[in-house]
Amino acid sequence: MPTSHSSRTTAEWQAADAAHFLHPFTDFQGLARKGSRIIARADNIYLWDTEGHQILDAMSGLWCVNVGYGQTALIDAATSQLEALPFYNAFFQTATQPAIALAELLAQVTPPQFRHVFFGSSGSEGNDTVVRMVRRYWEVLGQPQRQIIISRRNAYHGSTVAGSSLGGMEGMHAQGGAPVPGIVHIQQPYWWEHGRAAGLSRDEFGRVAAGWLEAEILARGPENVAAFIGEPVQGAGGVIIPPATYWPEIQRICDRYGVLVVSDEVICGFGRTGSWFGCQTFGFKPDLMTFAKGVTSGYIPLGGVMVGERIARVLIEQGGEFNHGYTYSGHPVACAVGLANVNLLRKLDLVRHVHDDVGPYLAQVFAELAGHPLVGDAETCGLMGALLLVKDKARGTPFAPEVEIGMVCRGHCFAQGVIMRAVGDRMIIAPPLVITRTQIDEMVALIRRCLDLTLADAQARGWLD
Ligand SMILES: *Cc1c(COP(=O)(O)O)cnc(C)c1O
Repeated sequence: MPTSHSSRTTAEWQAADAAHFLHPFTDFQGLARKGSRIIARADNIYLWDTEGHQILDAMSGLWCVNVGYGQTALIDAATSQLEALPFYNAFFQTATQPAIALAELLAQVTPPQFRHVFFGSSGSEGNDTVVRMVRRYWEVLGQPQRQIIISRRNAYHGSTVAGSSLGGMEGMHAQGGAPVPGIVHIQQPYWWEHGRAAGLSRDEFGRVAAGWLEAEILARGPENVAAFIGEPVQGAGGVIIPPATYWPEIQRICDRYGVLVVSDEVICGFGRTGSWFGCQTFGFKPDLMTFAKGVTSGYIPLGGVMVGERIARVLIEQGGEFNHGYTYSGHPVACAVGLANVNLLRKLDLVRHVHDDVGPYLAQVFAELAGHPLVGDAETCGLMGALLLVKDKARGTPFAPEVEIGMVCRGHCFAQGVIMRAVGDRMIIAPPLVITRTQIDEMVALIRRCLDLTLADAQARGWLD
């Protein structure tokens, strides 16, 4: 533990936390009663709390610490840049070297339609930029009525006003007036919930789900639709992996009506799915890509939007001044860390490590977990995975919602020293890309133990009948 913090007990930290710190997406009073778990340090894929417990971080922080904790290349990059130039802006016809170099590197590692980037500090800001940029694009082209952006239910695109509006989370829309006008949502491509009961194969369902986009475009009038936005794999929504038929069909539909395609790669980008970007795994060609999280492995906030040439050429050649930007667009320290991170991904060959080695291995061990009596479905894509917990395996019957089986399982995970996230009844993971096969075995053994403990609870409390 850092000595400067070690003079206070965990209880004292918890009291100060409850007294002053309003946590994101948290029931403040509920947490205050329980007390936060305070994380003090980390290395590789492990965390330690202030009580000294070791925890295997199967969520990479919050889907971001892709290169794992403690990478000196990133730490050194931040330190040297802080010394040389901690900040300068890019507003007034100035630039900094790390921002230029990272823009150049991102143009190299992203698909070929991308040669330009617009920087911000987070995924939410990136999606705010997306909203303004797609509408601006159509204005410049003389089609200002193209305002509507189509997204999906249960999508997550951040928590600013634009992000929560683009997102399809009911709980977020219920508070604070989202969605703002001009953003509509179609159903998500979740086969288990929306395809299985109808007797559709996954591939058939993928085409049906993409068809909902075409129906929405036609209902709104194609001349009014600016863009479609989606995560290649819905992350916060519960690792909803679409059928292979889905994205190519989405692309075909958008091409047909001239609608821009936006891939929110905040989670899927930088190797998570076994390609550099999720759109490459799923076979589509977006006009814009939002990124954040994995670009710096979470060591420092950075996000932005890759701008495809279709849009960049119009904005550059005909757009004049684009009245949008952030103080920290192209922040030199963040960009220096981004550079070091992308270079490290390359040096360690982590995208291939996921694609050829640990991704297939995770798929294999998750397929074995599918045999567990609580698990109705087990799916992975690269290094993202989800286990659906069900009451009756043979029939696929869900637990009663008031049981909150996911939260029960998550409680066991915390106690057993592995971090999984519960999204409804889906238990999800997204471990650091540096994880080894041996560490996957260790992680899966912990997960299996937690499933057993959850099953024992379910039996003891009569939730299975
Ligand atoms: C996390 C996330 C965001 C929001 O990113 P922030 O940095 O939290 O603003 C946007 N889109 C997706 C897909 C995300 O997972």
